[in-house]
Amino acid sequence: MEKVDLSVVIPIYNEEENLPILYERLKKVLDQLGKTYEIILVNDGSTDRSWEIIKELSQKDPHVVGVNFRKNFGQTAAMSAGFETARGDIIITMDGDLQNDPEDIPKLLEVLDEGYDIVSGWRKNRKDAFISRTLPSRIANWLISKVTGVHLHDYGCSLKAYRAEVAKNLDFYGEMHRFLPALSKAIGAKVTEIPVKHHPRIYGKSKYGISRTFKVLLDLILVKFLLDYRTKPLRILGGSGAILFMFGTLILLYLIGVKIFGGEDIGNRPLLIFGTLFFLSGIQLISTGIVAELITRTYYESQGKRPYIIKEIIRDQKFEVVNRGLVEEKVH
Ligand code: UDP
Ligand code: MG
Repeated sequence: MEKVDLSVVIPIYNEEENLPILYERLKKVLDQLGKTYEIILVNDGSTDRSWEIIKELSQKDPHVVGVNFRKNFGQTAAMSAGFETARGDIIITMDGDLQNDPEDIPKLLEVLDEGYDIVSGWRKNRKDAFISRTLPSRIANWLISKVTGVHLHDYGCSLKAYRAEVAKNLDFYGEMHRFLPALSKAIGAKVTEIPVKHHPRIYGKSKYGISRTFKVLLDLILVKFLLDYRTKPLRILGGSGAILFMFGTLILLYLIGVKIFGGEDIGNRPLLIFGTLFFLSGIQLISTGIVAELITRTYYESQGKRPYIIKEIIRDQKFEVVNRGLVEEKVH
């Protein structure tokens, strides 16, 4: 497979008016970079003419790669398919609705070259409705930064640049694309952000509403778990389980003592409920932790992943960059 320097990945869901303009603007910027490139347009089950337009563009210009989904699988899935298709050493992602500006791409690349693995855009001057979009997103960003320890102002900005070896090693399920910079911490990526331009949407409609904020918060719990306990789930589940189990046992022993030696009736004591509850949920948590440990092993082994990544090795006084532990590209 022929390599290129740069792959631009764009998920497309009903963006027929935007596509031709997007293509022209993007091409203008990319042609000036003096790099080889491809534009990967992933059609996420559009019901308008988007795919016809992508096909036309790809006929006209061999830089354009079209990927067509059978149905709408969502923006994250479209990005994932784009990453898999990408042949570039660097992958740029952006939206297909002209809200991101291709003119920011050279700046992203420049900063990436300073030694980062991910450069994320920050829509400092965001042009979306304040109450329904910008405000909830500010709160969410603050929370995500606190919880994950990866500090970005704007997780939701799609305009980002990734080194391919990092991008291809991120798993994304659900609507996880905004968490990629946070998840990349698990593989030791260096992440930074730069302010980028943002334009109001002129053609087509936004595909999301306020309900997204709540989904994002749920995902955050999973991300926290994946970041801190992915390789040691028993620590958190079993740890809290053990504490509960201990308390439960103590309470129950006490009650048994009261019953046998004190001859008191214990059936109506609230402590009995607590003791039983703690005892049982303790056992539950410990067993869940053990099951999670087993699943973790399957997770790493089935994908040929390792729970560590070696960056470089010095052998026979020679320096090798290995990146061992990152999944190598599948050879078909
Ligand atoms: N998108 C997609 N699949 C979806 C929803 C959105 O591929 O199910 C694309 C959409 O075409 C756009 C990008 O994802 O290129 C961002 O979507 P949108 O502009 O609606 O999000 P917003 O900017 O409002 O957060
Ligand atoms: Mg948009």
